[in-house]
Amino acid sequence: MSENEFPAGDLLKGKRGLIMGVANKNSIAWAIAQQLHAQGAELAFTYVGEALERRVRPLAESLNAPVILDCDVTDDASMAATFKAIEDQWGSMDFLVHSIAFADKDALKGSFVENTSRDVFKRAMDVSAFSFVDAANRASKLMPAGGSMITLTYLGSERVIPNYNVMGVAKAALEAATRYIARDLGPKGIRVNAISAGAIKTLSLGGISGARSLLSEGKAWAPMRENTDPAGVAGAALYLLSDLGKSCTGETHHVDAGFHIVGMPEEPDAE
Ligand code: NAD
Repeated sequence: MSENEFPAGDLLKGKRGLIMGVANKNSIAWAIAQQLHAQGAELAFTYVGEALERRVRPLAESLNAPVILDCDVTDDASMAATFKAIEDQWGSMDFLVHSIAFADKDALKGSFVENTSRDVFKRAMDVSAFSFVDAANRASKLMPAGGSMITLTYLGSERVIPNYNVMGVAKAALEAATRYIARDLGPKGIRVNAISAGAIKTLSLGGISGARSLLSEGKAWAPMRENTDPAGVAGAALYLLSDLGKSCTGETHHVDAGFHIVGMPEEPDAE
Protein backbone atom coordinates (compact mmCIF):
# COMPACT_ATOMS: atom_id res chain seq x y z
CA MET A 1 0.00 0.00 0.00
CA SER A 2 1.61 3.28 -1.01
CA GLU A 3 1.53 6.52 0.96
CA ASN A 4 -0.65 8.38 -1.51
CA GLU A 5 -3.47 5.87 -1.00
CA PHE A 6 -4.13 7.90 2.14
CA PRO A 7 -4.86 11.48 1.13
CA ALA A 8 -3.27 14.08 3.39
CA GLY A 9 -5.19 16.99 4.87
CA ASP A 10 -6.36 18.43 8.15
CA LEU A 11 -9.83 16.95 8.58
CA LEU A 12 -8.72 15.52 11.93
CA LYS A 13 -6.24 18.19 12.98
CA GLY A 14 -6.25 18.50 16.78
CA LYS A 15 -8.29 15.28 17.18
CA ARG A 16 -7.10 12.36 19.29
CA GLY A 17 -8.24 8.78 19.21
CA LEU A 18 -7.58 5.17 20.14
CA ILE A 19 -6.99 2.40 17.61
CA MET A 20 -7.75 -1.09 19.00
CA GLY A 21 -6.95 -4.08 16.78
CA VAL A 22 -3.71 -3.67 14.85
CA ALA A 23 -1.92 -7.04 14.69
CA ASN A 24 0.42 -6.30 11.77
CA LYS A 25 0.69 -4.17 8.63
CA ASN A 26 -2.11 -6.15 6.93
CA SER A 27 -4.65 -5.35 9.65
CA ILE A 28 -7.64 -3.28 8.57
CA ALA A 29 -7.02 -1.09 11.64
CA TRP A 30 -3.54 -0.25 10.31
CA ALA A 31 -4.94 1.07 7.02
CA ILE A 32 -7.44 3.12 9.02
CA ALA A 33 -4.69 4.42 11.34
CA GLN A 34 -2.55 5.57 8.41
CA GLN A 35 -5.48 7.45 6.86
CA LEU A 36 -6.46 9.15 10.12
CA HIS A 37 -2.84 10.13 10.77
CA ALA A 38 -2.52 11.56 7.25
CA GLN A 39 -5.44 13.84 8.12
CA GLY A 40 -3.74 15.17 11.24
CA ALA A 41 -5.03 12.90 14.02
CA GLU A 42 -2.95 11.94 17.03
CA LEU A 43 -3.29 8.21 17.70
CA ALA A 44 -2.93 5.79 20.61
CA PHE A 45 -2.75 2.03 19.98
CA THR A 46 -3.49 -1.21 21.80
CA TYR A 47 -2.27 -4.67 20.86
CA VAL A 48 -2.66 -8.01 22.62
CA GLY A 49 0.33 -10.02 23.87
CA GLU A 50 4.11 -9.82 23.56
CA ALA A 51 4.29 -11.62 20.22
CA LEU A 52 2.15 -8.97 18.55
CA GLU A 53 3.88 -6.12 20.38
CA ARG A 54 6.97 -6.78 18.26
CA ARG A 55 4.93 -6.01 15.14
CA VAL A 56 2.65 -3.29 16.44
CA ARG A 57 5.07 -1.12 18.41
CA PRO A 58 7.26 -0.13 15.40
CA LEU A 59 4.14 0.62 13.34
CA ALA A 60 2.62 2.77 16.10
CA GLU A 61 5.94 4.53 16.71
CA SER A 62 6.19 5.37 13.01
CA LEU A 63 3.02 7.48 13.54
CA ASN A 64 4.43 9.03 16.74
CA ALA A 65 1.86 7.37 19.01
CA PRO A 66 2.25 8.64 22.59
CA VAL A 67 0.42 5.61 24.10
CA ILE A 68 1.03 1.99 22.99
CA LEU A 69 -0.47 -0.56 25.38
CA ASP A 70 -1.08 -4.27 25.80
CA CYS A 71 -4.85 -4.66 26.20
CA ASP A 72 -6.85 -7.88 26.29
CA VAL A 73 -10.49 -6.88 25.84
CA THR A 74 -11.69 -9.89 27.87
CA ASP A 75 -9.86 -8.58 30.96
CA ASP A 76 -11.59 -5.78 32.92
CA ALA A 77 -8.36 -4.66 34.59
CA SER A 78 -6.61 -4.42 31.24
CA MET A 79 -9.46 -2.34 29.77
CA ALA A 80 -9.54 -0.05 32.81
CA ALA A 81 -5.76 0.47 32.63
CA THR A 82 -5.97 1.32 28.93
CA PHE A 83 -8.58 4.04 29.31
CA LYS A 84 -6.86 5.36 32.46
CA ALA A 85 -3.64 5.73 30.42
CA ILE A 86 -5.56 7.61 27.71
CA GLU A 87 -7.09 9.90 30.34
CA ASP A 88 -3.68 10.51 31.94
CA GLN A 89 -2.11 11.29 28.55
CA TRP A 90 -4.82 13.37 26.89
CA GLY A 91 -7.55 14.13 29.46
CA SER A 92 -10.15 13.49 26.76
CA MET A 93 -10.44 11.79 23.37
CA ASP A 94 -12.36 12.36 20.15
CA PHE A 95 -12.70 8.97 18.49
CA LEU A 96 -12.44 5.19 18.92
CA VAL A 97 -11.66 2.50 16.32
CA HIS A 98 -12.68 -1.02 17.41
CA SER A 99 -11.31 -3.60 14.96
CA ILE A 100 -11.28 -6.78 17.04
CA ALA A 101 -12.75 -10.25 16.64
CA PHE A 102 -12.01 -13.80 17.70
CA ALA A 103 -13.57 -17.26 17.44
CA ASP A 104 -12.01 -20.68 17.90
CA LYS A 105 -10.67 -22.01 14.63
CA ASP A 106 -12.49 -25.34 14.94
CA ALA A 107 -15.81 -23.49 14.99
CA LEU A 108 -15.05 -21.62 11.77
CA LYS A 109 -15.62 -24.63 9.56
CA GLY A 110 -18.35 -27.07 8.67
CA SER A 111 -21.58 -27.21 10.63
CA PHE A 112 -22.49 -24.17 12.75
CA VAL A 113 -25.02 -26.09 14.80
CA GLU A 114 -22.65 -28.97 15.57
CA ASN A 115 -19.42 -27.01 16.06
CA THR A 116 -20.65 -24.26 18.39
CA SER A 117 -20.28 -25.25 22.05
CA ARG A 118 -21.34 -22.98 24.89
CA ASP A 119 -17.71 -21.97 25.49
CA VAL A 120 -17.06 -21.24 21.82
CA PHE A 121 -20.24 -19.15 21.61
CA LYS A 122 -19.45 -17.16 24.77
CA ARG A 123 -15.85 -16.47 23.75
CA ALA A 124 -16.81 -15.27 20.25
CA MET A 125 -19.51 -13.01 21.68
CA ASP A 126 -17.25 -11.68 24.44
CA VAL A 127 -14.30 -10.74 22.24
CA SER A 128 -16.17 -9.80 19.07
CA ALA A 129 -19.35 -8.08 20.33
CA PHE A 130 -19.30 -7.27 24.06
CA SER A 131 -15.84 -5.70 23.79
CA PHE A 132 -17.31 -2.91 21.66
CA VAL A 133 -20.04 -2.23 24.23
CA ASP A 134 -17.41 -2.06 26.98
CA ALA A 135 -14.90 0.05 25.00
CA ALA A 136 -17.66 2.43 23.85
CA ASN A 137 -18.84 2.92 27.41
CA ARG A 138 -15.34 3.64 28.69
CA ALA A 139 -14.44 5.89 25.73
CA SER A 140 -17.67 7.89 26.03
CA LYS A 141 -16.65 8.97 29.54
CA LEU A 142 -13.63 10.67 27.94
CA MET A 143 -15.68 12.46 25.27
CA PRO A 144 -17.30 15.40 27.11
CA ALA A 145 -17.37 17.44 23.90
CA GLY A 146 -18.82 14.62 21.75
CA GLY A 147 -17.02 12.22 19.46
CA SER A 148 -17.28 9.35 17.02
CA MET A 149 -16.74 5.58 17.19
CA ILE A 150 -16.56 2.80 14.63
CA THR A 151 -16.41 -0.98 14.65
CA LEU A 152 -15.73 -3.49 11.85
CA THR A 153 -18.24 -6.11 10.75
CA TYR A 154 -18.89 -8.51 7.85
CA LEU A 155 -21.86 -9.58 5.70
CA GLY A 156 -21.91 -12.98 7.46
CA SER A 157 -24.10 -11.21 10.07
CA GLU A 158 -26.93 -10.73 7.54
CA ARG A 159 -26.54 -13.75 5.25
CA VAL A 160 -25.24 -17.26 5.68
CA ILE A 161 -21.62 -17.42 4.52
CA PRO A 162 -20.00 -20.89 4.52
CA ASN A 163 -17.73 -21.49 7.55
CA TYR A 164 -18.30 -18.00 9.03
CA ASN A 165 -20.64 -19.68 11.53
CA VAL A 166 -20.46 -18.35 15.12
CA MET A 167 -18.63 -15.24 13.92
CA GLY A 168 -21.68 -14.33 11.84
CA VAL A 169 -23.85 -14.56 14.94
CA ALA A 170 -21.39 -12.43 16.92
CA LYS A 171 -21.31 -9.85 14.12
CA ALA A 172 -25.12 -9.68 14.15
CA ALA A 173 -24.92 -8.90 17.88
CA LEU A 174 -22.19 -6.33 17.20
CA GLU A 175 -24.33 -4.52 14.62
CA ALA A 176 -27.37 -4.50 16.92
CA ALA A 177 -25.15 -3.25 19.75
CA THR A 178 -23.93 -0.45 17.46
CA ARG A 179 -27.53 0.77 17.09
CA TYR A 180 -28.25 0.63 20.84
CA ILE A 181 -24.97 2.38 21.70
CA ALA A 182 -25.78 5.04 19.07
CA ARG A 183 -29.17 5.61 20.72
CA ASP A 184 -27.61 5.98 24.17
CA LEU A 185 -24.68 8.19 23.20
CA GLY A 186 -26.44 10.34 20.58
CA PRO A 187 -27.66 12.89 23.15
CA LYS A 188 -24.01 13.34 24.20
CA GLY A 189 -22.99 14.24 20.66
CA ILE A 190 -21.26 10.90 20.09
CA ARG A 191 -21.86 9.09 16.78
CA VAL A 192 -21.48 5.29 16.57
CA ASN A 193 -21.29 3.34 13.31
CA ALA A 194 -20.14 0.01 11.86
CA ILE A 195 -18.27 -0.58 8.60
CA SER A 196 -19.13 -3.87 6.91
CA ALA A 197 -15.99 -4.61 4.92
CA GLY A 198 -15.67 -7.19 2.17
CA ALA A 199 -13.14 -10.00 2.54
CA ILE A 200 -9.55 -8.73 2.93
CA LYS A 201 -6.43 -10.90 3.34
CA THR A 202 -5.49 -10.54 7.02
CA LEU A 203 -4.49 -12.76 9.94
CA SER A 204 -8.14 -13.07 11.02
CA LEU A 205 -9.38 -14.05 7.58
CA GLY A 206 -6.81 -16.86 7.55
CA GLY A 207 -8.56 -18.41 10.57
CA ILE A 208 -11.71 -19.12 8.56
CA SER A 209 -11.80 -22.43 6.71
CA GLY A 210 -11.89 -21.84 2.94
CA ALA A 211 -10.82 -18.22 3.35
CA ARG A 212 -9.41 -18.25 -0.16
CA SER A 213 -12.86 -18.78 -1.63
CA LEU A 214 -14.21 -15.83 0.39
CA LEU A 215 -11.72 -13.75 -1.60
CA SER A 216 -12.16 -15.43 -5.01
CA GLU A 217 -15.98 -15.72 -4.84
CA GLY A 218 -16.20 -12.24 -3.37
CA LYS A 219 -14.32 -10.90 -6.37
CA ALA A 220 -16.33 -12.93 -8.91
CA TRP A 221 -19.74 -11.90 -7.48
CA ALA A 222 -19.01 -8.25 -6.65
CA PRO A 223 -20.37 -5.74 -9.19
CA MET A 224 -16.93 -4.09 -9.24
CA ARG A 225 -15.22 -7.47 -9.91
CA GLU A 226 -12.53 -6.70 -7.37
CA ASN A 227 -11.66 -7.47 -3.77
CA THR A 228 -12.16 -4.84 -1.12
CA ASP A 229 -9.27 -2.38 -0.90
CA PRO A 230 -8.29 -1.59 2.71
CA ALA A 231 -7.78 2.01 1.57
CA GLY A 232 -11.53 2.18 0.78
CA VAL A 233 -12.34 0.99 4.28
CA ALA A 234 -9.93 3.60 5.65
CA GLY A 235 -11.68 6.29 3.60
CA ALA A 236 -15.05 5.29 5.03
CA ALA A 237 -13.53 5.39 8.51
CA LEU A 238 -12.26 8.92 7.87
CA TYR A 239 -15.73 10.01 6.75
CA LEU A 240 -17.43 8.47 9.78
CA LEU A 241 -14.86 9.69 12.32
CA SER A 242 -14.54 13.25 11.03
CA ASP A 243 -17.12 16.01 10.72
CA LEU A 244 -17.74 14.84 7.13
CA GLY A 245 -19.93 12.18 8.76
CA LYS A 246 -22.00 14.56 10.87
CA SER A 247 -25.65 13.43 11.27
CA CYS A 248 -24.71 9.80 10.49
CA THR A 249 -25.11 7.39 13.41
CA GLY A 250 -26.29 3.84 14.09
CA GLU A 251 -25.44 2.86 10.52
CA THR A 252 -23.85 -0.29 9.10
CA HIS A 253 -22.03 0.99 6.02
CA HIS A 254 -20.93 -1.61 3.45
CA VAL A 255 -17.52 -1.18 1.82
CA ASP A 256 -17.25 -4.39 -0.22
CA ALA A 257 -17.16 -3.52 -3.95
CA GLY A 258 -20.94 -4.07 -3.90
CA PHE A 259 -20.81 -7.77 -2.91
CA HIS A 260 -23.71 -7.37 -0.46
CA ILE A 261 -26.27 -6.29 -3.11
CA VAL A 262 -25.92 -9.41 -5.26
CA GLY A 263 -28.46 -12.22 -4.84
CA MET A 264 -27.15 -14.53 -7.54
CA PRO A 265 -23.97 -14.65 -9.65
CA GLU A 266 -24.04 -13.78 -13.35
CA GLU A 267 -24.34 -16.71 -15.76
CA PRO A 268 -20.83 -17.20 -17.19
CA ASP A 269 -22.02 -16.86 -20.83
CA ALA A 270 -24.80 -14.27 -20.25
CA GLU A 271 -24.55 -11.17 -22.42
P1 NAD B 1 -6.49 -8.83 12.26
O1 NAD B 1 -6.19 -10.22 12.68
O2 NAD B 1 -5.40 -8.02 11.71
O3 NAD B 1 -7.20 -8.03 13.47
C1 NAD B 1 -7.95 -8.65 14.46
C2 NAD B 1 -7.48 -8.08 15.78
O4 NAD B 1 -8.26 -8.57 16.88
C3 NAD B 1 -6.02 -8.43 16.08
O5 NAD B 1 -5.27 -7.25 16.25
C4 NAD B 1 -6.10 -9.21 17.38
O6 NAD B 1 -4.98 -9.02 18.21
C5 NAD B 1 -7.37 -8.60 17.98
N1 NAD B 1 -7.87 -9.41 19.10
C6 NAD B 1 -8.32 -10.69 19.09
N2 NAD B 1 -8.63 -11.07 20.34
C7 NAD B 1 -8.38 -10.01 21.16
C8 NAD B 1 -8.50 -9.77 22.56
N3 NAD B 1 -8.93 -10.72 23.41
N4 NAD B 1 -8.16 -8.54 23.05
C9 NAD B 1 -7.72 -7.57 22.22
N5 NAD B 1 -7.59 -7.74 20.88
C10 NAD B 1 -7.91 -8.94 20.37
O7 NAD B 1 -7.66 -8.99 11.18
P2 NAD B 1 -8.62 -7.93 10.49
O8 NAD B 1 -9.20 -8.64 9.33
O9 NAD B 1 -7.96 -6.64 10.31
O10 NAD B 1 -9.80 -7.81 11.56
C11 NAD B 1 -10.22 -6.59 12.14
C12 NAD B 1 -11.74 -6.53 12.22
O11 NAD B 1 -12.27 -6.48 10.90
C13 NAD B 1 -12.37 -7.76 12.88
O12 NAD B 1 -13.48 -7.34 13.65
C14 NAD B 1 -12.85 -8.55 11.69
O13 NAD B 1 -13.92 -9.43 12.00
C15 NAD B 1 -13.30 -7.43 10.78
N6 NAD B 1 -13.49 -7.77 9.37
C16 NAD B 1 -12.50 -8.39 8.68
C17 NAD B 1 -12.72 -8.71 7.35
C18 NAD B 1 -11.65 -9.43 6.54
O14 NAD B 1 -11.98 -10.01 5.51
N7 NAD B 1 -10.39 -9.41 6.94
C19 NAD B 1 -13.92 -8.36 6.71
C20 NAD B 1 -14.90 -7.70 7.45
C21 NAD B 1 -14.67 -7.40 8.78
